[in-house]
Amino acid sequence: MNANRTPKGRTLIIGGSMAGLFSGLLLHRIGWDVHIFERVDAELASRGAGIVTHRELIGALGRAGIDRSDEVGIEVPGRRTLDRDGKIIGQLSLRQTMTSWGRIFGLLIPVLPEDRYHKGKNLQSVTQTASGVAASFEDGTTESGNLLIGADGIHSTVRQQLAPEISPIYAGYIAWRGLVDEAKLSPEAHDALFNWLGFCLPPGEQMLGYPVAGPENDLRPGHRHYNFVWYRPADEMSELARLLTDSDGRRNELSIAPDRIHPDVVAEMRAAADSLLAPQFSEVVGLTEQPFFQPIYDLKVPRMAFGHVALLGDAAFVGRPHVGMGVTKAAGDAVALADALLETEHDVEQALKLFENARLPIGAAVIARARHLGAYMQAQISTDEERRMAETFRTPEAVMKETAVADFLAHLDG
Ligand SMILES: Cc1cc2nc3c(=O)[nH]c(=O)nc-3n(C[C@H](O)[C@H](O)[C@H](O)COP(=O)(O)OP(=O)(O)OC[C@H]3O[C@@H](n4cnc5c(N)ncnc54)[C@H](O)[C@@H]3O)c2cc1C
Repeated sequence: MNANRTPKGRTLIIGGSMAGLFSGLLLHRIGWDVHIFERVDAELASRGAGIVTHRELIGALGRAGIDRSDEVGIEVPGRRTLDRDGKIIGQLSLRQTMTSWGRIFGLLIPVLPEDRYHKGKNLQSVTQTASGVAASFEDGTTESGNLLIGADGIHSTVRQQLAPEISPIYAGYIAWRGLVDEAKLSPEAHDALFNWLGFCLPPGEQMLGYPVAGPENDLRPGHRHYNFVWYRPADEMSELARLLTDSDGRRNELSIAPDRIHPDVVAEMRAAADSLLAPQFSEVVGLTEQPFFQPIYDLKVPRMAFGHVALLGDAAFVGRPHVGMGVTKAAGDAVALADALLETEHDVEQALKLFENARLPIGAAVIARARHLGAYMQAQISTDEERRMAETFRTPEAVMKETAVADFLAHLDG
């Protein structure tokens, strides 16, 4: 027996989204006193983001006590690609369940005891001691525990403190996104697109779309949403800066609220949809009331464990969305952390080392894979390797076969 073994204890989880909720629920179930601290003071609202699911995500939901796989989302039979004229130029059978951030959040949040989720708590700093960790919040309060989980996303305060040299790197393109009511689609667009993961591939760009739950997570036919993601190159210094300049002429740094996007920018994007996309996809863009965009970033940490602190989910690794792994990866991190705690009988430092050994290669593989898949959308292709990657993944067959599949991780399993 190891005399240094730490008993099950109190964990402070910073961030109450996917990584925070999965780790909170899983650690709660193995006997930890769990407290989630979320900066936002209200119920987190859906970000309108569609999510592709993988087997690992359904497994993690089961581990969290949620066995409702038939209610997770909408199953599509496969993928298809449309050309500029709207003709189907490729099709691939590949069953997959499409869901949304809001749907997964809505399944997780009721399972966690209410008094474990603390809203309006903005972490400011973390202090480690020999036996534990303390978190200080903007409201002047301090909490202490045996373990702190940084689940605070791409701009993580926890990471900025423990690994200040690491920050997200802009990938050279953005994703326009939006949702349309199923009932508003014309029969032609509905038939061609709605039940599929659909693609359209203008030169150097990629449009994709798929069905997700409607308002209040409604999965009834006729009441669902169609979700699109349109990747477009945008040079950082000129084009991205222009897109991030809001309707009052103010330049936003990293992102822009949907209702602040300059109307001319939205109008240009809709005009580009008409000239570049299949008519069914351009109809989707035209019907979207409030399109928004997100710059795409790569983020990779060299470590996930720092004494009594672990980084999970997007706080550690952000892959370009083409692998469709963000939520699955956050859930997988949480499962690995719970397993490591069980395996070490809750010795935090040993468990975090095991966790890091298990998850660092997966995070790195996801990021590498996502860079390959996204290379042809970059505004600037500067190296031979990038040019080679860009050529490989440009065809409809490659895009349909490789996007949002988890097979590339198989060689890392076990
Ligand atoms: C275009 C696009 C498409 C995507 N498609 C998919 C897909 O198909 N499938 C998929 O799985 N993923 C997809 N993703 C990624 C997915 O949305 C994220 O990977 C996932 O939500 C990460 O969860 P997280 O909990 O780690 O971080 P986040 O969801 O970012 O949550 C971090 C939380 O921490 C809180 N927080 C931040 N700072 C503090 C602080 N100082 N104190 C307290 N709280 C704080 C925030 O308010 C937030 O609630 C996509 C992303 C993009 C941009």
